[in-house]
Amino acid sequence: MTGSAGRERQPDETNPRGIANERIDILLKLATECAKGRPERARKYVGLARKIGARFNVRLGERKRLFCRECLLPLVPGSTCIVRIAKGGRQVTTCVSCGTRTVRRILPK
Ligand SMILES: [Zn+2]
Repeated sequence: MTGSAGRERQPDETNPRGIANERIDILLKLATECAKGRPERARKYVGLARKIGARFNVRLGERKRLFCRECLLPLVPGSTCIVRIAKGGRQVTTCVSCGTRTVRRILPK
């Protein structure tokens, strides 16, 4: 049960959720860019993006995969995370900072 006003979703510039969405995108992009050089700043950006999402009831959806769910470090393959393919068509992403693994099914079936 998440309110009744949450169903209509027009791409309207005056819609605060639209703006929130945009800000989340910008913050995550900035976070990814400085993940390697300035991880603390990157985490701050991710934290902010999540806060905005919670505040405006905007789902991160696919964007959740852009950062570590434990330490909030943006996951950049070859830089801040290790990506490997496991049996059964699963992609395992390991955060190099805290070692948290995220498993994701990448093949259908
Ligand atoms: Zn981590």
